[in-house]
Amino acid sequence: MRVLLLRFGELYLKGDNRRIFEDILIYNIQNALEGLKHSFSKTFGRYVISDYDDSDEDILVERLTKVFGLHSLSKAEQINASEEEITSEIAKIKCENKSFKVFVKRADKNFPISSMDLAKRMGELILRNNSGSWVDLYHPEVEVHIDIRLNKKAYIFSDTIKCQGGLPLGCSGKGLLLLSGGIDSPVSGYLIAKRGLKIDALHFQSYPYTSIEAKEKVLVLAEKLKSYVGPFKLHVVSFTRVQEAIHAYCAPEYMITIMRRIMMRVAERICIENSLGAIITGESLGQVASQTMQSMTVTGGVVKNIPIFRPCIAMDKEDIIKIANDIDTFQTSILPYEDCCTVFLPKNPVIKPNIEKAEKEEKFLDIEQLVSECLNTREIIEIK
Ligand code: ATP
Ligand code: MG
Repeated sequence: MRVLLLRFGELYLKGDNRRIFEDILIYNIQNALEGLKHSFSKTFGRYVISDYDDSDEDILVERLTKVFGLHSLSKAEQINASEEEITSEIAKIKCENKSFKVFVKRADKNFPISSMDLAKRMGELILRNNSGSWVDLYHPEVEVHIDIRLNKKAYIFSDTIKCQGGLPLGCSGKGLLLLSGGIDSPVSGYLIAKRGLKIDALHFQSYPYTSIEAKEKVLVLAEKLKSYVGPFKLHVVSFTRVQEAIHAYCAPEYMITIMRRIMMRVAERICIENSLGAIITGESLGQVASQTMQSMTVTGGVVKNIPIFRPCIAMDKEDIIKIANDIDTFQTSILPYEDCCTVFLPKNPVIKPNIEKAEKEEKFLDIEQLVSECLNTREIIEIK
């Protein structure tokens, strides 16, 4: 029977927590495969997806390769773990004029033939059946894997498809991603979700200074993220009043600093209200004036009760772009619609702001009032 054989990664490292991690992983796998006919079973160290329609195989694989916590998978033939059945399956292998190698794994140590002997016997069989084939232990053109599991089944396959790795989504809790229309924040959302953190997202828009297209772009990004992070809530908040007020009353070089401090306050409020345990941003050290160490101290300083995670902090732009391409957000991110941060951009933003000066500038504003106004404009969009 044709099946998909799934391997999971870091779970073993987690000791007592392993059961919880596995439960979450299995739940996430089932969710990802919703709507597609299949059966799920587990055997020590592997999961098996079977009884699916042949025509669904590619889509099953595509969805599974996006499930965090899965390490790799193979399209395999499942047979009973007997020498007879293994022999008749290996007899079907075609690799004329090619080099090959047989790999045997024996989780079931009661299987009567040792891994070495089985590999040798099956190798000889392949050589007999395929003229011009030869064994190459180092760079074989064809890999033949025989994986004998504790469920008394053997799995025969040749290719291994890499999955995401990471930890099952949800096992690290839940946070709030500050999602702009740029390149970095979707990548940050993806990276933090890969460490098991489920996310909701928050976007600030400055309509009518920013366009409807700018918001639609964020919706497209959210939709693309969903295939990795699952359904989530996108909070869209109007930042127009805040920006107008800062523009009117604060020193131009501190505009971005204060804007970002207010963003952080709004974000923390939404976190507390929704039991979200962290704020996630796309900041990367030194990328722009607002992303220096001093800047992050002053902007992050208003968040008192939860951590701020910045998965891109130590990444080069080209590495961020590579991930953006892998998760298919890059082409959307580079569409030229203005973000709220660029609308009122001052000529010379301060590169090393200090808290006292920021607090002094904020005295010209009714911060509490502005934060509440932001929250009052909030629209919650279900990305599902
Ligand atoms: P990105 O590519 O993610 O937009 P960026 O390099 O443009 O990042 P900034 O504009 O300084 O950097 O923003 C830094 C971070 O602040 C973003 O990664 C994002 O997490 C958050 N942010 C910026 N603008 C917005 C916005 N309009 N709505 C929500 N979050 C935002
Ligand atoms: Mg941006």
